[in-house]
Amino acid sequence: MSDSVLPPMTRVGVIGAGVVGACTAYALHKRGFDVVLIDKGEPGEGCSFGNLGAISMSSIVPLATPGVIKSAPSMLSDPNSPLFLPLRYLPKAAPWLARFVMSARPSVVARNSAELVKLHAGAVQAHADLTKEIGVPELLVHRGQIHLYPSKAALEGDSAAWKLRHQHGLKFRELDAADIAEMEPRMGFRYPVGIFLNDDATILNPLRYVQAIVAAFVSAGGQVWKREVHRLERKESAGWCIHSERGPEDFSQLVVAAGAWSKQLLHTAGIHVPIESQRGYHVQFIGGGSLISRSILLTDKKVFLAPMETGLRIGGTVEIAGLQSPPNAKRSLILEGMARDLFPELEGMATTHWMGHRPCMPDSVPKIGSTGLPGLHMTVGHGHLGLTDSVLSANKIVESMLKEVRAT
Ligand SMILES: Cc1cc2nc3c(=O)[nH]c(=O)nc-3n(C[C@H](O)[C@H](O)[C@H](O)COP(=O)(O)OP(=O)(O)OC[C@H]3O[C@@H](n4cnc5c(N)ncnc54)[C@H](O)[C@@H]3O)c2cc1C
Repeated sequence: MSDSVLPPMTRVGVIGAGVVGACTAYALHKRGFDVVLIDKGEPGEGCSFGNLGAISMSSIVPLATPGVIKSAPSMLSDPNSPLFLPLRYLPKAAPWLARFVMSARPSVVARNSAELVKLHAGAVQAHADLTKEIGVPELLVHRGQIHLYPSKAALEGDSAAWKLRHQHGLKFRELDAADIAEMEPRMGFRYPVGIFLNDDATILNPLRYVQAIVAAFVSAGGQVWKREVHRLERKESAGWCIHSERGPEDFSQLVVAAGAWSKQLLHTAGIHVPIESQRGYHVQFIGGGSLISRSILLTDKKVFLAPMETGLRIGGTVEIAGLQSPPNAKRSLILEGMARDLFPELEGMATTHWMGHRPCMPDSVPKIGSTGLPGLHMTVGHGHLGLTDSVLSANKIVESMLKEVRAT
């Protein structure tokens, strides 16, 4: 499987078996590294468990924009709004929020948007190739994505974002109510206008996808260890040591891919990355997966609908409340109500509710590559688009690590 010449015993530990870490471990193993994938829980059961499955190459507008900064203060204090920050968490979130506000300057938005374009380019093809390679091609459907607006005025209100996408060469077309009803008959004529993004795709079961990547990694000879890593230590000789409940264990190189928990872990090695959890929720209906045929964004409610193989999933929203506080059941009940209002067919159908921690950078651009310390790498801060960017981020890490190995 290997196509590179590496020094013997180049043992790499990848910490975090979410979609980002799983893709990283798989890609590194393919390039000849001896890889151990480490997670405190089961692979794929962090944030990657419950995302909406959208491979969203068109999501190139960073979260922090002048428009969001204008509307955020009124939304943040309303527990029913799609963006919520409980007052008790404000002091903790303040430094991150300050950076978020600074990232909303138009010149910074333009620069970060260009970064996101580069990062996402080719993502759908990369996922199509990977799903085939690991034997789960049925998990990817390439039917584009629809963004629905409650009025023409609302669409015009978003014109800066569409202009930016146009400038970056992304293809999309406007839909009227009849187009929407034709493409998604169960949505009917509820929304008068929408935008169709042909190039995007959907993964129909994000958890099964991670499990399949990990299974392919293991059957190719990779190892998975269950450990909670508490601390990273740089060895005097060379390499790194992880400290967990199993005691110290040595690696020649480490990759931190621990999602929203990466900030604390990197901190133990003296690396500071401003990651904040943006908690998101989903409601999974046990059935109803065929009510829609592709990922749909309801822009007025700021939620996604996804046709999962396990049933209809509705999710989204942002709650900035840290890693410790328990999920707020009220927020997912709001999502359930929205889905039931849209689709009477969901009457009587059972649901499961979930909350996950999106690992978010203030400027929406993940950190992928060397930490600056020899042998310590990171692929963190993928925010709202970790599924989209997972495969291509893994390639970037491989290149960065090969460069370092060759240079030593
Ligand atoms: C509601 C919602 C909808 C979303 N929809 C989409 C979407 O449609 N498309 C998209 O591209 N993205 C989407 N996302 C974002 C996407 O899910 C995340 O960006 C992605 O899952 C992050 O992956 P990750 O591997 O970095 O983190 P995680 O999946 O959280 O994985 C991190 C792993 O690290 C492990 N870990 C943490 N600390 C330690 C430690 N100390 N020791 C050992 N292991 C540790 C955890 O157990 C976990 O398994 C969505 C997110 C949410 C919440």
